[in-house]
Amino acid sequence: MADLTKKEEYAEPIFVNGRFENPFPTWKQPGLFNLCKYFLFDSNESAILSQESLDATLPVLQPDFKDFQSSSPDGMRVAWLGHSSLLVQFDGVTILTDPIFSKRCSPFQFVGPKRFRDAPCQVSDLPPIDLVLISHNHYDHMDYHSIVDLQKKYGSRLTWFVPIGDKRWMEESGCTNVREMTWWQEETFDNHENIKVACVPCQHWSSRKAYLGVNQSLWSSWCVIGPTQRFYFAGDTGYCEAFKQIGRRYGPFSLAGIPIGAYKPRWFKRAQHVDPEESVQIHMDVRSEKSIGIHWGTFRLTHEHYLEPRTKLKEEVEKQNLQPEDFITLNHGEIQFITNSKTK
Ligand code: ZN
Ligand code: ZN
Repeated sequence: MADLTKKEEYAEPIFVNGRFENPFPTWKQPGLFNLCKYFLFDSNESAILSQESLDATLPVLQPDFKDFQSSSPDGMRVAWLGHSSLLVQFDGVTILTDPIFSKRCSPFQFVGPKRFRDAPCQVSDLPPIDLVLISHNHYDHMDYHSIVDLQKKYGSRLTWFVPIGDKRWMEESGCTNVREMTWWQEETFDNHENIKVACVPCQHWSSRKAYLGVNQSLWSSWCVIGPTQRFYFAGDTGYCEAFKQIGRRYGPFSLAGIPIGAYKPRWFKRAQHVDPEESVQIHMDVRSEKSIGIHWGTFRLTHEHYLEPRTKLKEEVEKQNLQPEDFITLNHGEIQFITNSKTK
């Protein structure tokens, strides 16, 4: 068992003057100058998309959640609901990550990044859910309308896990059962004493008011540890030393959700968003048996071609001599059953 008192081995967030900071040498805060350079001068390769080509390359399937209603599988069930929203079921719990069903990831629904692929379902279609993991407060991960709809549907039977600094906003939005945690904090999940939820580091930042409210709440990735399966949700992140620490402390994982998109140009995005090469490195660092690529194919947030994350992921998986099924992408709304070796 790792010794969590050895601070040099386990990254802690820095907190100065009411703001959090990454402790990693790989971090660089995105500045206003570079933001302007990015918008004005960087070439945008994300492509103009016709509906036909989108339907052919990134189909949206209507998920049938009837299997999620039945008893927990021997293994795991997982559905990709677009962007970083995964529905995962194992060991008697059903988990939703960074839910977003809205048309735009923005403070307003008339302006801001708009979906180029519809959500495969709405909150009203979802099966019973026990807990929601939120990685940080950016609009594409902490979506007000989705959160309100989920709280209305499930009430206090739903437990929300958020990084420290986000609880107040969640409660002001109507959520009643909110757990706020910092890196390496662990909690046993209510009514499921055999399930442990751990908040773990990643390299990112936070803000809901452009550059005014920067880093007033923390960002994190999450582990959910059950008696037979372990799930890791990487959130939104650049590559840093934390992943080896997470692998050492909580790995191996039966399943991981790891971001693969929103990475170009590298001179601007590298610190906050991994590219597929780094995503595969995270998969290996955390010791995941199987990973699913998230944070791509839904909103046009950056300048890479919309299909490049999937193509580059396949290339990198091959380059690292992994099996093609070790790190995959799903279609929107696609459900998979994962029967792996039991990870303990
Ligand atoms: Zn983010
Ligand atoms: Zn994001």
